[in-house]
Amino acid sequence: MKNTLRLAAAILLGGVSASAAAGMAEWIAPQDPFPIYGNTYYVGTHGISAVLITSPAGHVLIDTGPAEASAQIVAHIRALGFKVEDIRYILNGHEHFDHAGGIAAVQKMSGAVVLGSPASVAVLRTGQPDKRDAQYPSLVPQAPVANTRAVRDGEVVKLGPLAVTAHFTPGHTPGATSWTWQSSEGGKMMRMVYADSLTAVAADGRSFSRNPLYPNARVDVERSIATVEGLECDVLVSAHPDFADLWERKARQPEFGNAAFVDRDACHKYAADARAWLAKTLTAEAQP
Ligand SMILES: [Zn+2]
Repeated sequence: MKNTLRLAAAILLGGVSASAAAGMAEWIAPQDPFPIYGNTYYVGTHGISAVLITSPAGHVLIDTGPAEASAQIVAHIRALGFKVEDIRYILNGHEHFDHAGGIAAVQKMSGAVVLGSPASVAVLRTGQPDKRDAQYPSLVPQAPVANTRAVRDGEVVKLGPLAVTAHFTPGHTPGATSWTWQSSEGGKMMRMVYADSLTAVAADGRSFSRNPLYPNARVDVERSIATVEGLECDVLVSAHPDFADLWERKARQPEFGNAAFVDRDACHKYAADARAWLAKTLTAEAQP
């Protein structure tokens, strides 16, 4: 595993009490926004992804980072020349506060409809973390989100020329969802994937694989890994950008343009990393 992945793992596994400051610093680390491909832009922080898919009929935003990052996300969207008021839909990857804590503020500014799986929307609407979540002791309440709607697995969210498909990928959380769409540039169409977290993680004192409140977590994450592995995938952005080498690919952007982000093996690698992570978690949790 790469150092960045290990650091992120330490932050995730360490939980909020032990490493809230380190985690938050990483999650809100500054990052200039940039084009990824065609109508798709990276508007997240250096540590947490947020993706803007634009169209003349309005925009779709996936995730916002934590509440502490929402002003950055909004500034990024404006810096690219787009209006926050033109965001029609905000889609959620998963319901943890480091990815969704800023949704309430951006929803308020945009008036957008917020879409996620039923389990995700239940958390967003109330702001209360899901008690079934193996990371529950590390989770904090979020500002409740207005104007939410639950989507079905496989539902296609349409907006003018945009069509974004929901793929439920639970396991990391009960509500985790990955999203796919297409973006074209110079006549070339790419199959875009926003892959949500697939990491098997539990807070201190909790078990991922033996969690009576979410007994299907292991089965779910195994199925979700297979789902992401099976996606048509030219350009991958993962919920944590460094889990899928986004910064290594971005480093090649000056030389290769946005083609630098194309890696047709990226979803397979992401799935393989998640499978290795799961195996490690299961081994650790099998110890007496
Ligand atoms: Zn998470």
